[in-house]
Amino acid sequence: MVTGSCLCGKVAYEIEGKVGDIIHCHCVTCRKAHGSAFSSVAAVSDDDFTLSGREYLKSFESSKGKRRFFCSNCGTQVYAKRENTQHVILRLGSLDDDPGARETKHIWLSQKASWYAIHNNLPEYAEFGN
Ligand SMILES: [Zn+2]
Ligand SMILES: [Zn+2]
Repeated sequence: MVTGSCLCGKVAYEIEGKVGDIIHCHCVTCRKAHGSAFSSVAAVSDDDFTLSGREYLKSFESSKGKRRFFCSNCGTQVYAKRENTQHVILRLGSLDDDPGARETKHIWLSQKASWYAIHNNLPEYAEFGN
């Protein structure tokens, strides 16, 4: 089992199953939401994801049908969710443990911060890298 939590600890989660491939997203909404050069994310099935402290979660619809969930007390981005999907898009900075999965690619390079240079050999995509 893999666990994670927000900075203040009021929101926490447990993952029983597999954490999907890790993707680094450089889109401007991730940059703004996380206050950082990019966000690192992976898909986790709804069935494998158990959340506590839900009453502290707030969400923001950053694009149509996609909400970003964060702790209303400390501001940690915990996960995002698209309508009509059976998985959450976990924000990996909130993990307490090694998720097992490894980084696979960079996406949304078309919106990458000009002041950040990527220093690895992962594939890079202008938008979604599917
Ligand atoms: Zn918190
Ligand atoms: Zn993004």
